[in-house]
Amino acid sequence: MSARAGIVVTGTEVLTGRVTDRNGPWLAERLRERGVDLAHIAVVGDRPADIAAALGFFAHAGVDLVVTSGGLGPTADDLTAEVVGAFCGREMVLDAELEQRIAEILRPLAARFPDLDMEAVRESNRKQAVIPEGSTVLGPVGTAPGLVVPPAPGRDGPTVVVLPGPPRELHPLWHDAAATAAVAAAVANATEYRQQMLRLFGIPESEIAATLRAAAEEGVELDRLEITTCLRRAEVEVVTRFEPSAQGVYDRLAALVRERHGPVLFSEDGSTVDDQVASMLTERELTIGVAESCTGGLLAARMTERPGSSRYLVGGLVVYANEAKTQLAGVEPELIERHGAVSGEVAQALAAGARRRLGADIGVAVTGIAGPDGGTEDKPVGLVWLCAQGPEGALTRRVQLPGSRQDVRDRSTTVAMHLLRRLLLGEHDEEGSAGAPHSAAARGEG
Ligand code: ATP
Ligand code: MG
Repeated sequence: MSARAGIVVTGTEVLTGRVTDRNGPWLAERLRERGVDLAHIAVVGDRPADIAAALGFFAHAGVDLVVTSGGLGPTADDLTAEVVGAFCGREMVLDAELEQRIAEILRPLAARFPDLDMEAVRESNRKQAVIPEGSTVLGPVGTAPGLVVPPAPGRDGPTVVVLPGPPRELHPLWHDAAATAAVAAAVANATEYRQQMLRLFGIPESEIAATLRAAAEEGVELDRLEITTCLRRAEVEVVTRFEPSAQGVYDRLAALVRERHGPVLFSEDGSTVDDQVASMLTERELTIGVAESCTGGLLAARMTERPGSSRYLVGGLVVYANEAKTQLAGVEPELIERHGAVSGEVAQALAAGARRRLGADIGVAVTGIAGPDGGTEDKPVGLVWLCAQGPEGALTRRVQLPGSRQDVRDRSTTVAMHLLRRLLLGEHDEEGSAGAPHSAAARGEG
């Protein structure tokens, strides 16, 4: 038997989509690490009746643990603690020590805003110190404490961990909650799970589905693995979760994927293409410069997201208009005139220009039509030319990417990262070739 949990994300701002939920996914990952099965994530507004209904749903589903986020603030519409107290059958009581601690936290605030109505501050302070009797207090990190609330003695039902909404407060308080005896007792039946990931690029998801069918035919016990495939940023991710005793089953599956999809399987250890490119550039002390047209700096931005990127990324040229391609990257106007801005020749000239102008070892260029207004019959929306050029040679590719403007731009950066990876692995085009259409890599699905 394994431990199961549910998450209740509260907040009308999350329900309406004004704020994207970051707590549900984060908590889901933490629960998974502990071997707790997550049954559902419920997103509800700030209405007490809706929060109570979500808790009731999880109790009915028989989960062992519920984690809530949000609604612990000092204002009257923050009612989670009270709703959880009632759900667990516990009286609300004033915790004098907690009231004192929150008062300490508020003291500097009062000093900064001398006109503050101190009576109102004390009142909301007191509200936050009224908690279900018998709960364990966590923090607070902000002014809102987290709580671990077990069901009242003699009552059935899940233990509830109540956490504040702001992610930077929720994260540390979750770790405190996870260390309590009450949470340990609630999830005592957690199973140990392993999770491994395969990443592939240049293959539609349906190919993986076919490989899974083949695996089943060969007698791989797929029912001992929980396999999820998803298409993300033009790559296929195969995430598999299993109990340690099924490691051998997973190894057989991974071997089969390797056998059937070897050339497009680029990661078996969870590393991303960005990780791999960064470590190759760092190890070999190579520098890189980029020139981007349709992606408008997204590729450079993607690279700068990584800590340590200043060791290899020199910078990027955003060369949207033809004049910018000429002035910033030194592309001959005649070349653009002859082949068009979206062409292999211009991609190569841009990569060379980025190298030369930025004094980098490697230049990468992206020029394409992200649409929806820019397409023509022979150069449709989604057509992108890319080039990666290093001291020993270059790779130039033409791809036809599906999706919206945002999709085309985002996928272009993924294709560029993979082109760069292959250049760093020593692949080069034949001298003089402008690069074969690389449609398999680009087709993707969805
Ligand atoms: P506070 O004392 O700040 O009011 P709280 O526990 O009442 O704490 P909420 O009022 O629910 O928290 O949320 C406060 C802010 O935290 C929200 O306005 C939002 O910016 C952020 N936040 C809340 N929930 C989430 C979430 N699920 N994902 C991302 N951000 C969130
Ligand atoms: Mg609030």
